[in-house]
Order: sequence, then structure tokens, then C-alpha cells
Amino acid sequence: MNRAIRLILAFIGTFVWAWAIPLHAQEDLSPLLTPRQFHDMECARLRSAFIRMQSARPLDSEQSDYDAVYYHLTLDVRDFTGRIIYGTSTITARSLDDNLDELILDLCSTFTVDSVICNGLRTFSLTDGLLTIALDRAYAQGELVQVSVTYHGTPCQNNEFPSFSYLNRSWYGRRYPTIFTLSEPFGASDWWPCKNDPSDKADSVRVSIIVADTLTATSNGILESVAALPASSKMFTWVERYPIATYLVCLNASNYAHYTNWYIALNGDSVPIEHYPYPEKLTQAQTSWNALPAMMTFNAQKFGEYPFVTEKYGHTMWTIPGSAAMEHQCNTSFDFAWTDGGHSYDFLVQHELAHQWWGDDVTLATWPDIWLNEGFASYSEALWFEHINGFAAYRNYMFSSAGLRVIDPSGPVYNPGELFDGNTVYNKGGWILHILRGAIRNDSLFFAGLREYRSRHALGNATTAECLADMSDVAGYDVTPYVYAYLYLTNRPQYRVSFDSGELHGQWQTVVRIRQTQTNPDTTFTTRLDLRLTANSDTFRTRVENSTRNERYYLRPDFQPTQLAVDPDDWVLKQITTESLPLTILNNSLADAVEAVPYTDTLYAIGGYGGMRFWSYLGNESGLALSTDGVLSGIPEDGGDFLIIIVVEDDLAGADTVEFVLHIQGILHPPQRLSACLHPENGLLELRWSSVPEADYYRINRSPFVDMHEIDLTFTTTDTIASDTLILGSVTGDSSVKRFYSVTSGQNP
Ligand SMILES: [Zn+2]
Repeated sequence: MNRAIRLILAFIGTFVWAWAIPLHAQEDLSPLLTPRQFHDMECARLRSAFIRMQSARPLDSEQSDYDAVYYHLTLDVRDFTGRIIYGTSTITARSLDDNLDELILDLCSTFTVDSVICNGLRTFSLTDGLLTIALDRAYAQGELVQVSVTYHGTPCQNNEFPSFSYLNRSWYGRRYPTIFTLSEPFGASDWWPCKNDPSDKADSVRVSIIVADTLTATSNGILESVAALPASSKMFTWVERYPIATYLVCLNASNYAHYTNWYIALNGDSVPIEHYPYPEKLTQAQTSWNALPAMMTFNAQKFGEYPFVTEKYGHTMWTIPGSAAMEHQCNTSFDFAWTDGGHSYDFLVQHELAHQWWGDDVTLATWPDIWLNEGFASYSEALWFEHINGFAAYRNYMFSSAGLRVIDPSGPVYNPGELFDGNTVYNKGGWILHILRGAIRNDSLFFAGLREYRSRHALGNATTAECLADMSDVAGYDVTPYVYAYLYLTNRPQYRVSFDSGELHGQWQTVVRIRQTQTNPDTTFTTRLDLRLTANSDTFRTRVENSTRNERYYLRPDFQPTQLAVDPDDWVLKQITTESLPLTILNNSLADAVEAVPYTDTLYAIGGYGGMRFWSYLGNESGLALSTDGVLSGIPEDGGDFLIIIVVEDDLAGADTVEFVLHIQGILHPPQRLSACLHPENGLLELRWSSVPEADYYRINRSPFVDMHEIDLTFTTTDTIASDTLILGSVTGDSSVKRFYSVTSGQNP
């Protein structure tokens, strides 16, 4: 083929392609997005809003005087050229005050408020984003008040990601307005008057959108009506009958295509999945979004039924600068650039879907709890990949830079402040759940905990503390310590681990030492760590609690291990380096002794260099001595429990110190003052005694050590016992145990 023909064909090919698929210019420029990039991108949006929040006023205190019950927002968005919106927001509120005579709403100050009606026209002022309305009278606690605000103007655009966007998309040579909103976290009042606080969810919201009749408008909930209006216009009215936070209320309008998939709920009901892609993206959307029914089934099985099961779910396409997705309740906004006809962005589809449970149904109580939204949604991505590709894929996702890999420095997950970013809130937030799952190590309990947390706060709000309390209730113990430092402090634990083993009393004993060496000395992580010892084909596994900066563990595999793996399955976010075991005493206990009976036990040490020498701090009363080669021997002089501090040193000034408690079984000294006799005819034990100097009272322990009770010194008593062994003890006034005497039934001691 010659060059001229090739050029002509190339031209024809370009023309046909451009005519048939007039794709948006941005499409070919959009590289494949990794979860990390997505998380960073979502966070950039939130971060810009957070920065704005930090300089903004807190919720006006008087706004706590009422509870938002219902909003009906009617917006005319037809003035695309002038970019002026005309709206009426009717709010029904319940007074929480004895004397509510003023209602304060959040509203961008760029708007002109045309009128406020509350049983007639009312006076108002709009200053610094607060619309203050004088009500027609004082409303008592519990009374409902309804206020309608009519306004117009240009929505606030003071955000890196505008809350209210206009876009001109061309399709088949025509340009179509594309209008959409993105309110998280504080943008709702940029375009409509409301009480803009996530902890005050309205019971229901109705959104009526007036557009040119060439367009379709979508919002939350279900489509209630489409009314034809004069001037070639239509009004789409959507109603959300589940409680909803203001940042989740959305408005979209464009020349969408529309198709429906179906999710079969756990009870067999069919739930529509209403999708509104751009027409030029219809084919791609039908493939890229087609995992949703399976994802909804999976999430429902893991987290409980889809929260808005009597309404719908679905995507409305948008084109946001830099690309984004947003979990608007029942109606996720999904970027056209991420709808490529394949499944590369399934993690995003799952992320926004999971938000319907984590964020929309259970909404963060305050913005510092943001990980309850984003950490949960991000972790749900990993769960989906575990579901379809197995546990190895899940684990890989937690570590992959294309997944939830966490890089230090990472900030506190709760109240991330200036360190707020995808790495901390999304990835490390997701790791919080992974760590909890590893600590609980029982998937049915872990997921039951998630479901319990969800059900206790469904359609409401939750705090971080409530989440952990709910998980703890189901686990049966407090799980908070295992994630506390990750949530409230920085970075991760840096473990230095070492191990060695030696023979002790004819069996291998292995000592594992774990030091936490993270530089912030106030930071101590509490974790549950699996330890795996191996040698050739032998494997020994156990799990230990690590909660101090320097701990040692004594393990007894029946072989001499050559390798140690700490947390081999990576349930804990950590950094590990190994070191040689320093000089370490191998024994973790001393053999029991008996008063007046010759005693010997031998101490050993491992690690260290050159010769070793033992010495100890021994109480005088023990009657024992420790030789430099570790032999503890002698004749114990007295019964009781004795603290013995044993030190070993090596030739390089290495040292190890261990505290032992030596138990010496006491015997009765003459003159005998105690007697006991078990009467076989009635099973009663008879005790008799005379006074014992320095004893304040006697304590009788049945064997084993249950059912302890005290006996008055001045009385003789009888008692029924189930066992034939009794221990009598005398206790001195300072409560330290002085002596124990063994008494055998039927005999005088
Ligand atoms: Zn998210």
C-alpha cells in the first residue's frame, strides 16, 4: 500500500471514528487509576473542604435548638448560560427548645433570598452563610414548624471541587448541559438552605428539579413524578424516604441514557438498579457497572441487607475535574472517565456501593470520624476481591501499592487534622478493620460485629467509640486496645525480634523477645501476634499478646527451631527487623520447693558471648544459694512464696535479669496449734486450734482453690468439704502470706 492511499484511509478512519463515537476529549487522556490514586483524589476533595472547614465557623449553637425533619427542595436549573439557579427550600423542623422563635439555616451568602414564609411572610437576614429567620411565634419543645425559603443566585464556588457544577458536553454535534452537585462535606449550603450537619439527618427529602425537556434529572430515592411544564420544560420529583444527611443530597441533570439492572434482595424482592450514563457511554457502562448486582448480594450477605431496599440503587454519570465518584444516597455519582467498558474500576464501583452501608445508612457523627465512612468503604474493596479471587488476593490488596498499602509517616486515623490524606484515612482506616479481623480471628464473629454495629446505628449516626464498643460486645471482650494506637497516634509499631532455644529439663525451650522501637516513646502498640517457629518439616504456631515495649515469650515446641516468623499472615500493620537474641535466661519458672527438704534447680542462659555468671538477690529466709554457674540449691527454711531476682552476665557486659517467685511448701512447726478431723460418719470436717502468735485470722482453702471463707479465731467450727485435702493458712496483719499448712483428712496435722 502506497503512502497516499494510507493517508486517505487514515483520514476516513478518523472521520468514521469521530462520527460514530464522539467521545469526550478527556477520555483518552485518563490513565488507569489505581485505588491509591483514587483514594488520594477523593481525599484531595475532602482535604480542600477540610481546610475550608478549619477556617469556618462551627455549627451555630442555636441550630441545636431544632431537629430537621423534612426538606422539599425545588430547583430551577434552566438558566445554564447565566448559571443562576432559582429555588425554594421548605423545611419542616421539630423544636428542641422551650421557646424557639428563630430558625437558623446555612446558606451561601452569594444568594439573594426573595422571601421567607412561615404562616405568612417573615423577616430574615443572610450574613456570613447563616440565614436567620424570625418565626411567626415561639414554638414549644416537640412542636413542628414549617418554613419556606425562596432564593436565587449563583452557588458558592469557593471549593477546589465545586459543590454545584455546570458543564457543556457535546454529543452528535449538539451541546448538552450537564449539571451535578458534590456536597461532601460542607457544600450542601453552597446551593440550598439547610441545617448542614451530618448528625442531623432529615427523616425524608423531596427534590424537584426543573430542566429543559431535552434533559433528565436524577436525585436520591425514587422518581415520584415527571411533570411537563410550559416553555419546553419538565420537572422531575425524586423522594428519599429514608433518613439522609445533607451532604448526601444530590442533583444531576443531563441528556442521560437510562437502563435498569436488578438486585435480588435477601428476601427475594427485586430492587431496581437505575443507571443514568451519558448516551455516548451507554455501552461501556453496561459492562463496567454490571458487577453491581453481585456486589450488592455480597455486601448484603456480609453487612446485612442493602439499606435502601424499598427504593433503588444506581449510578448517575458525571464529569468532574480530575475525576471522582461520590456515594450519594441510592444514586452514586460515577465519573465517565472511569467507565471504560472494562472492569478496571470495579474497586470504585464497590467502594461507592459499600458507602451505602458505611456513610449513608450509618453516617459519621462528626467529621473526625471520617474513617467510619472511608476506611470501611476502602476495606470493602478488599473484601470484594477476596470474594471473587480468594484470600491471597485479599491479602495482596491490603499490601499492594495499587490497593491499601500504608506508607509512614501516617497520621492518626481518627481526627486526622493536617495529616488527612488517602494514605491515613482510606488505607490505614481500612487496615483498622483488617487488624480487628486479625485480632478477633473468627470471621463469623468479626462480620457479626460489623452487622451489629451497622444495625445499632442504621439510618442514624455513629462515633468511633460506638463502633468499637459494638464490635467488642460481639467479640465478648474489649477490642479497642488492638487498634487504639493506630487510631489515635501516628505510624505503626517497629518491632525488633530475636529468638533462640536451649534444652531445659530434657525439653527444647525457645525464647522469643520482641521490642517495640518506634521513636515516639509515648507510643506503645497493643497487638495480637502470631509466632511461627519452623525447622525442616516441623512447625509450631502460637499467638501472643504484645503490649509493652520489651516482652519475651517462652515457647516449647518439641524441636529446635531454626526460623521464626512474627505475624506471618500479616494481620498487623507493622515493621519488623531481626536481631540476635541478647543474653537471656532460658528458665521462665523455678521448681517448687518444700520446707526443710533439700532443693536443687538449675538456671541456664542463651545468647550472649563468652562465659556466663549467675548471681541473685535472695531473701535470707529462703535458705537457698545460687552458684555462679546457675545452680540454685539449699534447704528451704520456711514456707511461703519468695521473690528471687536472678541476674546473668557474660564476658561482654551483657546482662539479663528475671524475677522469679519460688514457692516453698510449708510444714507445721511444733507446738501444733491446729487440728482437723474428717468424721467419716457424716462427712463433716472438725477444726480445732489454739491461738497462733501474730496471726490475725485463719483462712481455709478447699482444694482446689475454691470457696474460700474465713473462720473466726475464737470458735471451733465444723464444715462440710468435698475434698479430703485442706490447707490452713495464717496471715499476718500486713496481709502477706506467712505460712500454709497441709492437712489431710482424718488425721491430726
Ligand atoms: Zn469514599
